[in-house]
Amino acid sequence: MGTYPMSEDDRRIQDTARRFVDEDLIPWETHAEEHGGQIPEEVRQEHHRKAIELGLFAMNMPKDLGGGGFTIFQQVLVSEQIGRVTNALGWCVHTPPAWAPEVVSPEQLERWIVPSIRGERHECYAITEAGAGSDVDAIEATARREGEAYVLNGTKMHVTSYNSADYLFFQAKIEGGPHAGEHAMFFVDKDTLGVHLVREPAYSHTFPDSHAIVAFKDVRVPASNMVGEEGDGLDFTYAWFRYERLMIAARCCGAAERLIEEATAFAKDRVQFGEPIIGFQAIQHMLADSLTELWAARLMTYELAKNIDRGVDVKIQHAQCSMAKLYASEMANRVADRAVQIFGGRGYMRENVAERFYREVRVDRIWEGTSEIQRNIVADQLAKRGVRMLAG
Ligand SMILES: Cc1cc2nc3c(=O)[nH]c(=O)nc-3n(C[C@H](O)[C@H](O)[C@H](O)COP(=O)(O)OP(=O)(O)OC[C@H]3O[C@@H](n4cnc5c(N)ncnc54)[C@H](O)[C@@H]3O)c2cc1C
Repeated sequence: MGTYPMSEDDRRIQDTARRFVDEDLIPWETHAEEHGGQIPEEVRQEHHRKAIELGLFAMNMPKDLGGGGFTIFQQVLVSEQIGRVTNALGWCVHTPPAWAPEVVSPEQLERWIVPSIRGERHECYAITEAGAGSDVDAIEATARREGEAYVLNGTKMHVTSYNSADYLFFQAKIEGGPHAGEHAMFFVDKDTLGVHLVREPAYSHTFPDSHAIVAFKDVRVPASNMVGEEGDGLDFTYAWFRYERLMIAARCCGAAERLIEEATAFAKDRVQFGEPIIGFQAIQHMLADSLTELWAARLMTYELAKNIDRGVDVKIQHAQCSMAKLYASEMANRVADRAVQIFGGRGYMRENVAERFYREVRVDRIWEGTSEIQRNIVADQLAKRGVRMLAG
């Protein structure tokens, strides 16, 4: 039990998530690692069912739509616990797009979002392209209006969860008309004619979810599949980035907590030169630095979550989400590196939690904006708003 002040409800939610992760998910980690990220289908379904039963699934979505209606702080508490488990086993606690209910049409809500909250449908994001990563505005995918339809073209990469999704958010630039060159986002059912899987490359981590390269060739969708208006597309992407950056920070805190717990337990147990290695100052310092940095990252993440719940200005949120993601992801990578070192040769074995996290947390410095891009955002906001506004 920690000392950070939280309500009884917050504590109950945190405990529920922690128990689920410890009792149901962590026991399957090594199996998943040894089987290309896969666990038996009946176990996967049971995790899915239990995530719903515990009220953790779609925790970020409004209650009146069937979601959990959790505060941002409560979502952070759950995401931290999800971060304690490797191999994306925690992804059974799925969070559908929280930005959607406010901006999508009633038809889109019924067709895609509500079924996603019920766990019957699953989305993925097709934004990044070979020539457009950090520079999202460099996308070359196009959307051309033809009567009551749009025709979509482009090739996307790193489309996470393409293999488990049944619809995509496709980001393109409008071709022709008064909004030519502006961004738009579309719902695209995966089975729409012209949506074509190019390939699913292997990545460092061993996850069941693929990161696909997907081609869209003359994909015709009704104009009613567009989210909002022509020109709105980037706003939704930024809203999603903010949310995900905060949740990545939370998951990194969870990963660091698990690593420190496991490395400390090992260091107490492992005897070399006649004494437990935790007696060696070199080991103590690695653990002490890790714990100190975890505490800093956690306080930053918690305070940011509370700021969002309090409704602070969205520009400040934007900068603080970048700071939290930057600091927590870099922290988790340092902690994972030290944990491998403390475990010694065992830390290099895939059956060891530190080895898996060492590979898995690496991407947290890359996706949803690299560490360099987070620094650019923070520096830009610093110049505009000053220190006290952002860190006061
Ligand atoms: C596992 C994984 C899953 C992903 N899932 C998705 C997904 O579901 N949907 C999706 O659309 N995308 C996804 N992405 C893409 C991800 O968001 C991009 O990889 C990320 O934004 C970086 O883009 P990039 O890889 O093209 O790198 P680049 O933008 O080419 O960057 C290369 C290097 O240059 C640096 N750099 C670039 N611009 C600047 C600058 N202005 N100042 C300083 N340094 C700079 C970067 O920090 C980096 O070090 C995923 C990526 C990975 C690895």
